[in-house]
Amino acid sequence: KSIFADMKVVIPAPIFHLTKMYNEDKFEKKVNLGVGVYRTDENKSFTIPVVKKCEFEVVNDPTLDHEYLPMSGNPEFRKVATELLLGPDCKALQEKRVAAVQTASGTNACRLAADFLAKRMKLRTVYFPMPTWENHMVIFDHAGFKQFKTYPYWHKKRRQIDMPRLLEALASANEGAVVLFHGSAHNPTGMDLTKKQWKQVTTVIKMNKLFPFVDTAYQGFATGDPDRDAWIVRYMASEGLEFMAAQSFSKNMGLYNERVGNLVSIVSDPKLVPALISELMMYVRPNYSNPPAFGSRVVSRVLGDKKNKEEWLKTLCEMTDRVKNMRKQLMQKLQDLNTPGRWDHITRQSGMFSFTGLNEEQVAKLVKEKHIYLTASGRINICGLNTKNIDYVAESISAVVK
Ligand code: PMP
Repeated sequence: KSIFADMKVVIPAPIFHLTKMYNEDKFEKKVNLGVGVYRTDENKSFTIPVVKKCEFEVVNDPTLDHEYLPMSGNPEFRKVATELLLGPDCKALQEKRVAAVQTASGTNACRLAADFLAKRMKLRTVYFPMPTWENHMVIFDHAGFKQFKTYPYWHKKRRQIDMPRLLEALASANEGAVVLFHGSAHNPTGMDLTKKQWKQVTTVIKMNKLFPFVDTAYQGFATGDPDRDAWIVRYMASEGLEFMAAQSFSKNMGLYNERVGNLVSIVSDPKLVPALISELMMYVRPNYSNPPAFGSRVVSRVLGDKKNKEEWLKTLCEMTDRVKNMRKQLMQKLQDLNTPGRWDHITRQSGMFSFTGLNEEQVAKLVKEKHIYLTASGRINICGLNTKNIDYVAESISAVVK
């Protein structure tokens, strides 16, 4: 008898299962609003032109080889990525109080931080926004966190952020608790705090001596402006907080499968930086040993050259403009169809996702009867909408709500 005899087929990530169902569906008007990837108006995957150009340059660069990168990653990449996050005027950067480690994208930046915080810092409690990206809890659980708490984020009825209860929950958190925030384009709600709200949150963090962890998977994808989308990270740094931030280039550079990320730690004393990096390596070495090079070289070329960077920023704006336009159209069409309820939250939200407020039953109907694929939470990827399918989607949503 096999030692694997009790294996069962499980679904580790329902979101990828949704893609599989969509791919197998033969219905002509099927729509995939599930997984968070960008699509053009022709429903095609998209490589940002300047990213493509830099890929060619990297491939054809005779000075590059396939030797291992250092465990902490590509130094040039770490520098430009960290500057993108913190901005050129960041005092912590100037004072060399920043430790950056290249990771295998955002997921792995979260995991490396969680491993370190649980195993080395012996932290036990972590707070997540309710709701949050479904992988967060699993990552912190696997790393060894023991106590999982949530702070209210989304007010279901009002379809906005539940600020009073959010602050109340954080005010009751104990010293040393890790609190996870989304830097911008909160997944799944698409709803971010205002500057005023972030300031209130920061006051509570300081008061209760909490440890912020900012997951920044969508820098530039919320507003089209990476500086604006990094506001909370820069504010926390300017307030003298110690914290960690995870960075991903999956969405904003479209480098999903190259796994390009960065874990940035802001510390109070520059002397701590080499020690912190070396201790983080204790969790890199037995895991993946050193990160992949290709994507990091591409990002270095895009961000390290003024003209390339300008081109990237321009394309980023075009992408986010398309998303904003689809939001407007979806809201308008739902209203024109006299769909019961309010739909203006769709345009108040930003980034890839909209938390529509559709319930599980309505979602099930959309999947089964209309061949429109979305998660059970009612989250839709706005990038899956285009000028050809938006009428069908709006009519279908309207039909299942009525
Ligand atoms: N954090 C959040 C909030 C996300 O939505 C995602 C992607 N879905 C990630 C992290 C990780 O993405 P990646 O590993 O591709 O960087």
